[in-house]
Amino acid sequence: MKYDYLIVGAGLFGATFAYEAAKRGKKCLVIDKRNHIGGNVYTREVEGIQVHVYGAHIFHTSDKDIWNYINQFAEFNHYVNSPVAVYKDELYNLPFNMNTFSKMWNIKTPREAEDIIHSQIECLGITEPKNLEEQALSLVGTDVYEKLIKGYTEKQWGRDCKELPAFIIKRLPLRFTYDNNYFNDRYQGIPIGGYTQIVEKMLNGVDVRLEEDFFALRDTGKLSDGTEIAYDNLLFTGQIDEYYGSEFGPLEYRSVRFETETLDCGNYQGNAVVNYTAREVPYTRIIEHKHFEFGQQEKTVISREYSSEWKPGIEPYYPVNNEKNNALYEKYKAMADKESHVFFGGRLGQYKYYDMDKVLMAALDCVRTHLGE
Ligand code: UDP
Repeated sequence: MKYDYLIVGAGLFGATFAYEAAKRGKKCLVIDKRNHIGGNVYTREVEGIQVHVYGAHIFHTSDKDIWNYINQFAEFNHYVNSPVAVYKDELYNLPFNMNTFSKMWNIKTPREAEDIIHSQIECLGITEPKNLEEQALSLVGTDVYEKLIKGYTEKQWGRDCKELPAFIIKRLPLRFTYDNNYFNDRYQGIPIGGYTQIVEKMLNGVDVRLEEDFFALRDTGKLSDGTEIAYDNLLFTGQIDEYYGSEFGPLEYRSVRFETETLDCGNYQGNAVVNYTAREVPYTRIIEHKHFEFGQQEKTVISREYSSEWKPGIEPYYPVNNEKNNALYEKYKAMADKESHVFFGGRLGQYKYYDMDKVLMAALDCVRTHLGE
C-alpha cells in the first residue's frame, strides 16, 4: 500500500492532521501502538459515565476559530472547571481567588487579601523570579505557596520547585474576585458523550491500524500482518528522542498512574476535580468523572492520580521543560529541521506542555505548512 502520509499516533494532533489531509485528497495511514484511537484524550463509557482514561481533559480556549473547529465534531456542555484543594484538614477553592483567600485568612475584601499577599511578598525580596518557587511566591505569597502549591508541584513533577520552570505556575489564574473558574478562557466545556467520538469523526474514512509499532514498520517496511507500506511523508507524534534513537541522550517526561474504581454511591466527592496538595498524600488528585457531564447515575467512577518519572514501558504524559531538557530537545529539533519529509507534532513530538486547543492550533498550522490553506 502506498500513502501520501504515514501518521504515527492517533491522538488529537495526528487525527486533526489526518482529517485535514484527507479533506485535501491525500491518502493517509494512521497507526497507533495502543488498541484504541484518541491518544490521551480517549474516553470510555463505564456505568453510563464517560471516563477520562488518561486523565481529565477539559477543553478551553480563547480562540473562537478553534472553538468552532472542535464544535464541528461534538456538542459541548457548559462545564466550568472549579477544582477544590484539600490541604490536611482544610479545603480551599481553586484557582487562587477571593474564595481561597477569605477561607485562608478569614477576610472578606480584595483589599485585605492584597495587603496580606503584598506584605508576604515584600519580605521575600524577589525581583526577577528565576524558577517556579520564586514565581509562585512572588505572585501569591508564602501561605498559598506552602499550602496549595509546594507539595502538589513537588509530587506532580518529582522535583524541587526551585528546579522547575516558572511558566508552569503561570498556567493558573490569580484573581481578586469570588470566581472559581480555573481558566480565564472565553470558551470552555466537555464534549457531551466524550472525546473518543471527536477523534472517530476525524478519522472517518482514513485508514487506521491499531497495535502497530512504528519502529518495526520502519525496520521492515511492513505492518504486523505483513502488508507492505510505502509513504512519501511521515508525521510522527511520539517521543522525538525515541525517533532518533535517543542519540543525544533521553529527554525526561513525567508519567501518571491512575487507580480507577467504580463505587456503589451516587456522589463521592461532590466535584469533578479535587486536588490533594499536601506532600504526605501519595496521589495528586482524585477525578470523579460523572461530574464533567453532570451525571445522575447510581454509581460513580473515580480515579486517583499518582505521578511518577517516566521510564520505558510506561506512558509519557508531560514533558519536563526545564533548561536541561529544553537544551537537549533543541538538538533533536535541529535534526528534525533538516528533514524534508518527516515532521513532528504534539506534546511528545514537539516536547511541549500543550493544552488541547494549542494542539489543534499547532496541527492546523502544520496543515497550512504542508498542505496549504
Ligand atoms: N498546581 C499547584 N497546585 C494545585 C494545582 C496546580 O501547585 O492545586 C501547579 C502545579 O505545579 C501544576 C501546575 O500548577 O503542575 C499546572 O496545573 P494544571 O492543573 O494546569 O496541570 P494539568 O491539569 O495539566 O496536570
